[in-house]
Amino acid sequence: MSTPSISTNVQEKDVSGLALIAAHSHITGLGLDDNLQPKESAQGMVGQLKARKAAGVILRMIQAGKIGGRAVLMAGPPSTGKTAIAMGLSQSLGSEVPFTAVAGSEIFSLDLSKTESLTQAFRKSIGIRIKEETEIIEGEVVEIQIDRSITGGHKQGKLTIKTTDMETVYELGNKMIEGLTKEKVLAGDVISIDKASGKITKLGKSFTRARDYDAMGPDTKFVQCPEGELQKRKEVVHTVSLHEIDVINSRQQGFLALFSGDTGEIRSEVRDQINTKVAEWKEEGKAEIVPGVLFIDEVHMLDIECFSFINRALEDEFAPTVFMATNRGISKTRGTKYKSPHGLPMDLLDRSIIIHTSPYNADEIRTILSIRSTEEEVELSADALALLTKIGEETSLRYASNLISVSQQISLKRRSNTVDLPDVKRAYTLFLDSDRSVKYLEEFSSLFID
Ligand code: ATP
Repeated sequence: MSTPSISTNVQEKDVSGLALIAAHSHITGLGLDDNLQPKESAQGMVGQLKARKAAGVILRMIQAGKIGGRAVLMAGPPSTGKTAIAMGLSQSLGSEVPFTAVAGSEIFSLDLSKTESLTQAFRKSIGIRIKEETEIIEGEVVEIQIDRSITGGHKQGKLTIKTTDMETVYELGNKMIEGLTKEKVLAGDVISIDKASGKITKLGKSFTRARDYDAMGPDTKFVQCPEGELQKRKEVVHTVSLHEIDVINSRQQGFLALFSGDTGEIRSEVRDQINTKVAEWKEEGKAEIVPGVLFIDEVHMLDIECFSFINRALEDEFAPTVFMATNRGISKTRGTKYKSPHGLPMDLLDRSIIIHTSPYNADEIRTILSIRSTEEEVELSADALALLTKIGEETSLRYASNLISVSQQISLKRRSNTVDLPDVKRAYTLFLDSDRSVKYLEEFSSLFID
């Protein structure tokens, strides 16, 4: 196989799987201090201190590249910030470490098999940091000096090129010149250097005699390059995901599929060849593997085949950290008759580090609702915030949070820019929370179709 192409630099984090992405737009990190201690409220994160601290430890381990192939399970009641913490982790990781988010239900599609969907999700979460040497010009040439007085001959002496970024002194003579032009200047070539503009022009090989060289006057300088190329090499580094390398090198798909997202199944031979090549690059010091994070929300939606795939994939040579979230208690593992904690099979649970999230107190709910209203640019009166907090305590944080924008629509109808108590009350009566919806169902069950 030829060297796999890597000519893309798509570094966007793929968090498209999070349907509630806007719901977490207020979160910019885990809100930890330098010692990984969670601040009560920082970077949009409030409370849930133990879970955030634990996520901080995971963050450090991922950053140190020490945790690839581990599974972390976040378990807790609905609306207790599991997805929020995963988003905070993603933000804290920065753009160099891949973070992929999928919801468990997304793995089941008509286009791709379950294992192909999971394989793609795993490979999106592995970054390959590739080092390449590139020719560059550093800064603009601002001054050129040629000092031939040392020896008097054009084949010896010193050429100093100052650019806005650096000053380089080149020995003229039989040594190789490395220089600063986009054009390659080869042995025997003559270049002219315009002192005023700093422009370096390649003239070809005709101008070689010292006599002609001396006759050109002080402002145009000519140098004959004795050997080598006039160029500067610099190492540049870019990160791509294993999945991107797969897609680019997959004959059926081609790199355009990266933009449409419609990559289809990728043949396992392609992946095997990529793995071998990447291992070679690693060996040769040309590439570094960056294990990222695969976040699977609603992980209980997966079935036993998916779980056994994950178990195996975690042992792979290139494995990310798999971060899972669930709000299920003891429940059936899909595809089996058996119940287990969080609906996960025991062998996967056994290899997982488990982080718990717990319900919020009134202060925490108030602070989160206040942050959300600022994020949604909704002004709440003190009474409205107090009522929303009470509703949050008695129903759920998510329901109370949803009422913010609904209440705003109601307040706008009465031409007010501030949401007040009656607006929240009205929103509460118009839109039911799940408990009231269940009661309503029970009351009118005979009217519904079974
Ligand atoms: P579910 O089990 O229902 O999926 P979840 O535990 O993933 O729930 P989230 O979606 O993270 O809950 O939280 C609900 C809403 O509350 C989101 O808008 C989220 O950003 C916000 N939120 C939750 N916890 C916090 C927190 N500790 N700090 C700030 N915002 C939070």
